[in-house]
Amino acid sequence: MKKRVMIIGWDCAAPKLVFDAFKDDMPNTHQLMQEGIYGKLESTIPPITVPAWMCMMTSRDPGELGIYGFRNRQDYSYDALTIPNAHSIKVPTLWDLLGQHHKRSVVLGVPLTYPPKPFPGWMVTSFLTPVDPNYPVTETNLQWTFPPRLTREIARVAPEYMIDLPDFRTDKRAELENQLYKMTQARFKLARYLLDKKTWDFFMMVEMGSDRLHHAFWRYWDKTHPKYEPKSPFADTMRNYYRTLDEELGKMLTYVYEDTTVMIVSDHGAKRMDGGICINEWLRKHGYLTLKTQPQNVTRFTTEMVDWQQTKAWGEGGYYGRIFLNVAGREPDGIVNAENYEGVRDELMKQLERIVDESGQNINTRVFKPEEVYQECNNIAPDLIVYFGDLNWRSVGSVGYNSIYTYENDTGPDDCNHAEMGMFILKDGRQKDGPVTAKSIYDIAPTVLKEFDIDIPEAMQGKPI
Ligand SMILES: [Zn+2]
Repeated sequence: MKKRVMIIGWDCAAPKLVFDAFKDDMPNTHQLMQEGIYGKLESTIPPITVPAWMCMMTSRDPGELGIYGFRNRQDYSYDALTIPNAHSIKVPTLWDLLGQHHKRSVVLGVPLTYPPKPFPGWMVTSFLTPVDPNYPVTETNLQWTFPPRLTREIARVAPEYMIDLPDFRTDKRAELENQLYKMTQARFKLARYLLDKKTWDFFMMVEMGSDRLHHAFWRYWDKTHPKYEPKSPFADTMRNYYRTLDEELGKMLTYVYEDTTVMIVSDHGAKRMDGGICINEWLRKHGYLTLKTQPQNVTRFTTEMVDWQQTKAWGEGGYYGRIFLNVAGREPDGIVNAENYEGVRDELMKQLERIVDESGQNINTRVFKPEEVYQECNNIAPDLIVYFGDLNWRSVGSVGYNSIYTYENDTGPDDCNHAEMGMFILKDGRQKDGPVTAKSIYDIAPTVLKEFDIDIPEAMQGKPI
């Protein structure tokens, strides 16, 4: 039988949920685990959807791709941030490489595929596709599929198809829960159609719902979460959603041959969020950042607020922190001289690693220099990458808190942060060893190439599992 590989991506799926907490609710997943191997999958630095999925699909790190997160500096001016898209990916993806070997792929919902580029197969783009999420995507004129005529098929097969939820950081949890199921079920309905009706060698899909679920419903499930609500009507939402993922997996498996290699993967894990460290407040407090005026209320940080003549560094919020130094000859009004650059950076690192919580306990903040964690640094990397409290704390960019701590997220309710360890299950008909040591997100693309007996390019960072 012709070799085929199917990968189902559950964005943000955490190993402790799939392999432990919800194991008994997920019989199809459990069977796959017994028939193959499984374990943790170490994500990229940082463990963020963009660029993690593309790093997985190219086996290149964020520095090589030149994509360090959702927003990237376009140049050394203070305010030019750009959001990457498929054109930002300059190296071949797995489906490009497979296409060179006459293999056809189905690519459904993989982040950073918009706008779709021609390749041998079928593609449905992912979130970051610039559509109005309140309007049916099947009725837009935007090219969000390849070939474009696939849009008409989707309008017929799954007219309710949603690329992403309109807003997952909302207090309207019941409505969100409804939409979550609607989105996920429509995606899998389309997935089954593509599995069944298209000719493919490689099938790859990503479901974003699991990520949205964690951010919106984690506190109702995790008894250790600081905002845990014991008798919530959403107490079973997390478990029920994973049950749905498992049911959908079961249906998918009926469409593939017994000898198809099947993988379940996530791009990163998830963990409870204890709070936020106000990165720019912290920089102000330690004398790195000076604002022209004292903000009276919590205000979104903008670079116009900054007194650059007296600023050595500023930061960006998000699941992890990014710190940029104001370097003479590099930034427009830079004041850190080149010869002091390393000294300032090292001092910052040391101080960041000493951050304590309000009870005085060190929160275990980890700081990375990009050139030490990436093969190369294309485009403009942050000067420092910060995991506050080992990612149990997020980075909050806004100013005006009068504290470095906050327990309300500045971009809307959010219960969890991303964790470094995602998960994988691999059933290839040969390896049946159960749990194995952690593998790397960079190992996925080489594993797929090897299944097709295709040489693994030198530049790929991982090796076949
Ligand atoms: Zn993700």
